[in-house]
Amino acid sequence: NRVRVAVLHGGRSGEHEVSLKSGRSVIDHLDPERYEVVPVLITPDGRWASGDGEPGGLAHAIGLFEGVDVVFPALHGEFGEDGTVQSLLEMVGVPYVGNGVFAGAAGMDKEFTKKLLVADGLEVADGVVLRAGDETLTPEEIDRLGFPMFVKPARTGSSLGISKVDAEEELAQAVKLAKDFDTKVLVEAAVPGREVDVAVLEHPDGRLEAGPALEIRIDGGHAFFDYEAKYADTTTIFDIPARLDDELREAVEWQALAAFRSLGCRGLLRVDFFLRDGRTPVVNEVNTFPGFTAASQFPQMWAAAGVEFPELLDILVTTALARR
Ligand code: ATP
Ligand code: MG
Ligand code: MG
Ligand code: MG
Repeated sequence: NRVRVAVLHGGRSGEHEVSLKSGRSVIDHLDPERYEVVPVLITPDGRWASGDGEPGGLAHAIGLFEGVDVVFPALHGEFGEDGTVQSLLEMVGVPYVGNGVFAGAAGMDKEFTKKLLVADGLEVADGVVLRAGDETLTPEEIDRLGFPMFVKPARTGSSLGISKVDAEEELAQAVKLAKDFDTKVLVEAAVPGREVDVAVLEHPDGRLEAGPALEIRIDGGHAFFDYEAKYADTTTIFDIPARLDDELREAVEWQALAAFRSLGCRGLLRVDFFLRDGRTPVVNEVNTFPGFTAASQFPQMWAAAGVEFPELLDILVTTALARR
């Protein structure tokens, strides 16, 4: 008997379009011999539809899980990656792939991600949190962080609302943009150096594995890894494995596993690092459900380790079912 997997995609988030792509590739790569796929589309206004059925509200959504063995939330951003959908799945009592309520919420909020990781001894970028009502930084904070700075909404992904700020006169505009995405905004010191991401995977027996690190090399005149460079610019290069000496490779792998444990993750996590001055790992942020198209980092990193997409999905689903 095949396992019935409901693949949630779309979602009520700025990353709706990205999730449509991730969901599509999950649907296409689940082995049809082993899995019966139930595609579940969530519209941008939060209505749920199974297959080509009519979309409905939450009461309808709960009904869609009847007869489903496991849910695969292929959702990015708010109302999907942040623990909210996971909370619904907990209430319904259906097993699901990946991170739970706490890790989702902690990983989505960059303020709290950093606080938790620092408490466990990991290094993060220095920064200031602007809450609702806070207009900008104090002169002391500006001096402390220096330029360039990065201004980002506390809880988005895909670089939405993020700006690099090279001088003080650009700061207000960057904060205003970030506030369009979130009431809470982070202003961080820029960390100069390389950018390297690590994939962590939980096996059905509970063993954690860090995949080969990936280095992002941005070209084409992008000041940083922005939305365009992520999804439109074909000149962005991923080096897998990243060219790291043994010591640095072990350091990022170990820190990625530490971040996974620190946030109470399950199933998977992508940990994004800077290598300050090319040497010291600094955690930038985590993604509790990273991009999942065949060309996305997470599946690419595992493919480079010899774990092809269908096998990767198999591990994720089997781990979710083993947890019961
Ligand atoms: P993702 O799509 O990975 O979820 P995100 O929207 O959560 O992205 P970040 O990863 O925090 O955003 O930042 C996006 C990009 O901005 C980074 O990949 C990096 O290129 C740049 N960046 C962010 N913060 C800093 C910083 N403090 N120093 C240098 N570069 C930064
Ligand atoms: Mg992110
Ligand atoms: Mg993300
Ligand atoms: Mg990132």
